[in-house]
Parts: sequence; C-alpha cells; structure tokens
Amino acid sequence: MIIVMAPNSTEAELENVKNKIKAEGLDYHLSKGAVRTIVGVIGDKKAIGQLEMHHLSGVEKTVRITEKYKLVSREFKPNNTVINVGGVQIGGKKPIVMAGPCAVESMEQLMEAASAVAEAGAQFLRGGAFKPRTSPYDFQGLAAEGLKMLREAADANGLKVVTEVVDQRSIETVAKFADVLQIGARNMQNFQLLKEVGRAGRPVMLKRGLCATIKEWLNAAEYIMSEGCDDVIFCERGIRTYETYTRNTLDLSAVAAIKELSHLPIVVDPSHGTGRRSMVRPMAMAAIAAGADGLIIEVHPHPEVALSDGDQSLTPADFKEVMEDIHRMSRLLRGEE
Ligand code: PEP
Ligand code: MN
Repeated sequence: MIIVMAPNSTEAELENVKNKIKAEGLDYHLSKGAVRTIVGVIGDKKAIGQLEMHHLSGVEKTVRITEKYKLVSREFKPNNTVINVGGVQIGGKKPIVMAGPCAVESMEQLMEAASAVAEAGAQFLRGGAFKPRTSPYDFQGLAAEGLKMLREAADANGLKVVTEVVDQRSIETVAKFADVLQIGARNMQNFQLLKEVGRAGRPVMLKRGLCATIKEWLNAAEYIMSEGCDDVIFCERGIRTYETYTRNTLDLSAVAAIKELSHLPIVVDPSHGTGRRSMVRPMAMAAIAAGADGLIIEVHPHPEVALSDGDQSLTPADFKEVMEDIHRMSRLLRGEE
C-alpha cells in the first residue's frame, strides 16, 4: 500500500501515520517530494491488506499496489531518482559512462585502460576482480589484489569504481574499494546476496538476469531497496533468446519499460549485450536515444590478448570515437545541437 499525504499535512499527522503502521507490526519507507510525502508500507501482505489508513487526518488517499514491488515503482515515487556518487549524477540530464576492461589483469593493463577512458570522458572505471566465468578453468580474477588496483588506477585518473560482488563473503571488502557495487546477471536472483548488498551502504548496479523478465528484475531491485538502499541502478545487458549471431539479445525496450514502471536510473551494456566489438557503437547510440541514463562499455588496451571478453572489448582509440558519438547524440537529444 502507498499512502499519499496531503500537500498541507503536518509532521504530527505523518508521525501518526508512521505510528499506526508500526503498531500493526509493519514497516514503512518515505519518499519526500517537493509537494507531497508518500509513505510506502512494507511487510506481511495479509497485514497490509487489513490496514485502513485513508480516514486518518493528513492522508489524501491510499493506493493499493497490485504488483509486489513497491519501493522501486513510479507510483511510489513519481520523479526520477538521481543518484549522486561522489559528485557524479546518475539519472540526471547527462548520460554517464562506465568503462574499462572485463577483468582486472595487471596494474599495467588497468592504468593504461583507466587513463584512456578518463581522457575520453568516462566517469567510472569498470573491471572485475571476482569473475563469474562459465568454466571453472577460466581466469577467475585477481580478487582483493584486483580491488586495490582498481582503486589506485581510478584515483590516479579522477574516476569512480564500479565492480562486481559475487558473494556475501566479499561484500565488505568490495565495498571498501568500490563506489558502486555491481550485481552480475548470474546473481540477479540470488536473494540472500541482494538483501545483504542492500545493507552495504553503497549504491548498487543490478544487471538483468540472463533469462529474467522485467518484473522479475524489478522484484530483485525491490529486495535491495527493502533493506534500506535507495540507490539502485538497473543495467540492461542483453537476454538469452534463440538468436546466436550475437552473444545475447540487447533488449532496448527494457529501457522504455523501466522508465515507465520505475523511478530508478537505467544504464545499458552494449558489450555483453552483443558480444561483438563492431556492434558496440550503434547499440550505445541507440541506448542513449532510447533514454538510457548511461552506458557500461568494455575497453582493453590490447583486446587480442585479453583474458576475458576480448572480442567485445574496444581499443582506447575505438572508445574515443564512440564517446564522441555518444556525446553528440546526447547533445542532440537535449536540443543543444
Ligand atoms: C561484467 O559486467 O563483468 C559481467 C560479468 O557481466 P554480466 O554479469 O552481465 O554477464
Ligand atoms: Mn565481460
């Protein structure tokens, strides 16, 4: 249930609403807009069903939400959420770009990638220190060593860090070095991990599961938000279909769907979405045109020797060109060109 407070309601009336919710053994989440405060009631479905709040003073109306996700929904928060990561706004007017290698391989590789992506205008350095690989015999990442390298290379180039957390055990360590915690496609429905990452005190980028529907994805984000994390970023990275020419099928309609259904920002990953270097540029442009709040792109100084995902990684020179096109597209959409 969502309780919409009247524009002129008082703090005491809001307090009373909160107390009534607590008295029923339920919890709440507040969304304070410029005009209205919206109270989202969370907890046992049956108890919420029995809750009568519309007659309370200061309450404009109550809305029974039919979908299970609430905190992520646009009904709960009509305005877009803008996430501030140390001065970088995700979900604001300008798209942001996260770029870097698939995996952290060495300090040399990472420094080269970081300085190239920073120079081209990216705001985030990406790179996996813990790699969820299809085969256990493939390179699994440099773990804690890799995290330190990420922080150092990012700091040296004025970038933020986004990196994947693959299990509960490593959350604390990853949170020490990263600005945004990434949940990978394979873990999108690892509910224990989602809950714990929601308590880590860092923004979370939630990649779409390989076979996840939009609603399953929204519910996964609800898990994170229900633990107190307000800063969730969706990431469309392609889904598995019958098509095999591309690694995945990049679902750009998900950008429009998420914008309709949620107030949270969404970024697009054209690298994993296509698996092909040549397709990254057109899909990046299309994602921005569709309304994405940003992109995450794999860039490797020498893709031909990359330990993972070389075929979809851009060279620094390719990336520079793609960035110029992205900026041109975004200026065009803002009516500045
Ligand atoms: C990644 O971005 O490094 C990654 C492993 O992607 P995904 O989880 O989307 O496969
Ligand atoms: Mn990769």
